[in-house]
Amino acid sequence: MDTKIFDVTKLNGDVLERAQICAERGAQTGMEDALRKIRSAADILRAGGLVAFPTETVYGLGCDAFNEAAVKKVYAAKGRPSDNPLIVHIARASDVGALTPRISPEFVRLADSFWPGPLTMILKKKAAVPDIVTGGLDTVAVRLPDHPAAVALIREAGCPVAAPSANVSGGPSPTKAEHVIADLSGKIDVILAGSDSRVGIESTVLDLTADTPTILRPGVLTADHIAEVLNGEVIYDAALLRSNHCVPGAERDGGADDGAAPRAPGMKYRHYAPKAEMLILEGEEEKVRAEIGRLRALNEKLGAEVGVILFDERAYREAAHDFYARLRKLDEEGVDLILAGALNGRDGIGFAVMNRMLKSAGYRVVHVS
Ligand code: AMP
Ligand code: MG
Repeated sequence: MDTKIFDVTKLNGDVLERAQICAERGAQTGMEDALRKIRSAADILRAGGLVAFPTETVYGLGCDAFNEAAVKKVYAAKGRPSDNPLIVHIARASDVGALTPRISPEFVRLADSFWPGPLTMILKKKAAVPDIVTGGLDTVAVRLPDHPAAVALIREAGCPVAAPSANVSGGPSPTKAEHVIADLSGKIDVILAGSDSRVGIESTVLDLTADTPTILRPGVLTADHIAEVLNGEVIYDAALLRSNHCVPGAERDGGADDGAAPRAPGMKYRHYAPKAEMLILEGEEEKVRAEIGRLRALNEKLGAEVGVILFDERAYREAAHDFYARLRKLDEEGVDLILAGALNGRDGIGFAVMNRMLKSAGYRVVHVS
């Protein structure tokens, strides 16, 4: 398949509204060319095609959420297990009515506060939402992304857009257009090439159908941020705390060990993994640095190429922004082993990045004491 690549880096602000105002005045926005490309991509989406697009979290691979054949093609292009449901993206909060029969006051408050933005909400689904989108669950995941190209594409397509991350399943998520081009060229119809993803890790997934609102996948929007808006308790899924061995905001390590399976089906798969072997080292910062240095020298002596990932504890947003791109860069350089310093999981964003880092490393962690 010949994949069209459209440059949309020029789009900004409320593209469609500005285009309309300028058209009425006979003025130019400077975005005409990019907007034409968005419209042509939207036509392709509506006709059942696959379009990758930038969002503020990571790049998404979209299709018409109501077109089962198109959704099947998304799973095939990614090589994604079919019981791992997709997030449905909308362009206005009011469009959620097409997907869910009930809108709760909590939903309204959170949408008002955090949309557009990196929050996905799990809601009861309407029968019209195909089972293939939700992996057979009776709930649907919904998000309004904070990106002009994404919003313009969804609005012009006129349908909700089901979109997982635009990468080959199992590998690091794409935060640059070049990542999408490397993974999906020849497999999909269009790639909208924008600038690098601002956030860099996937959205926080919040289950609003549980008795207590529950975070199923951590993101830069933490339980504290959400609890403040809801003025009530927000918890992390027990399986998530167990796999991270840590509770954000808590003094001590150790999540609940109740043997629960992850409730976001996608959380159980091997994920975000680089081609290189990867090992996480945790402990006091100085000791971790020293041990990484020692292991690096040792492995280099044996002829291995070694890459190192160490983030500054005061800059965890930067860690989120850079993490996947660092993994891909090290793979490109052909390193055999990646040694990564653990992030502090008691910090909400540290916990979210650590969730990805642990999966990338297949949970291989060494404690340095
Ligand atoms: P991705 O598309 O790679 O960003 O992954 C979407 C994430 O949302 C996966 O972890 C899914 O398992 C999760 N998800 C999507 N829909 C649902 C749902 N209805 N219930 C629970 N988790 C969901
Ligand atoms: Mg993904």
